Amino acid sequence: VSGLEVHFPIRSAFLRRRVGTVRAVDGVDLEVARGETLALVGESGCGKTTTGKAILRLIDSTAGSIRFGGEEIAHHGTSALAPFRRRMQIVFQDPYASLNPRMTVGGILAAPFDIHRIGHAGDRAERISALLRTVGLPADAARRYPHEFSGGQRQRIGIARALALEPELIIGDEPVSALDVSIQAQVINLMKRLQAERGLAYIMISHNLAVVSHVADRVAVMYLGRVVETAPREQLFFHARHPYTQALLSAVPEPVPGRSRSRQVLQGDVPSPAKPPSGCHFHPRCPIAQPRCAEETPRSRIIAPNHAVACHMVSA
Ligand code: SF4
Repeated sequence: VSGLEVHFPIRSAFLRRRVGTVRAVDGVDLEVARGETLALVGESGCGKTTTGKAILRLIDSTAGSIRFGGEEIAHHGTSALAPFRRRMQIVFQDPYASLNPRMTVGGILAAPFDIHRIGHAGDRAERISALLRTVGLPADAARRYPHEFSGGQRQRIGIARALALEPELIIGDEPVSALDVSIQAQVINLMKRLQAERGLAYIMISHNLAVVSHVADRVAVMYLGRVVETAPREQLFFHARHPYTQALLSAVPEPVPGRSRSRQVLQGDVPSPAKPPSGCHFHPRCPIAQPRCAEETPRSRIIAPNHAVACHMVSA
């Protein structure tokens, strides 16, 4: 993904015209390799879910490039996009809302095969049983309805649905945040096993840095529609350089008794993406902001191997 922008118009019903623009995604560059997990982190409203949906082409981007396996797909129409839809899938945050309560699990898992005309009616039952086995659910689950399952089991059904078309990339939109902590670990372990077996690439969207520290190979931190820092997991957790990343990390509880981080409390709220601050979007809250920060947008620069930071005050 390079230079990705997703802007939404704000319309006034009263004035009957466009009165502004929400810059939900404002020039994002990202890449993820086969078998890799890239975590996309940031506070609510920073544009991470919109970025994920734009990559999947569930919403249209305003500008920028989306390349999948080397092919530009940002402007593909429905038919040109169909083969890519099979190769990219999503697991949603809420396993309670993302499964149709009126359909059996078998019906839910058969839908991708029907939509993409894969196989034939005679092999549906075997395909569905194989999917259920893969995610650790019994074969008779196919005859039951989503409400008969626990939250963790429902998320396994969501993962099975995402796997049905044998994708290469799965975007997990906060896939465990609606689950109990003990169940989160089971679902994360399942996703890691599937990745190892199938060489899946994951983009994990999360605001939970504890989860990210378990799953990510690399981490991209977003603030108000822009990526401010990208680094391998260890590098980011122990050598973060962007002031926003440092503040985010300082808010994570330290699990080792006797060790503590100095907490950096950011002043103010995240500004509205309809009126983002000039220059560096973070400058009204940044503890080390300089006059230049309000005027010039910082470019992302490589400061160490695979470590990029968008900040005027950070150098290699
Ligand atoms: Fe802070 Fe300026 Fe760096 Fe933005 S560019 S993070 S305002 S120091």
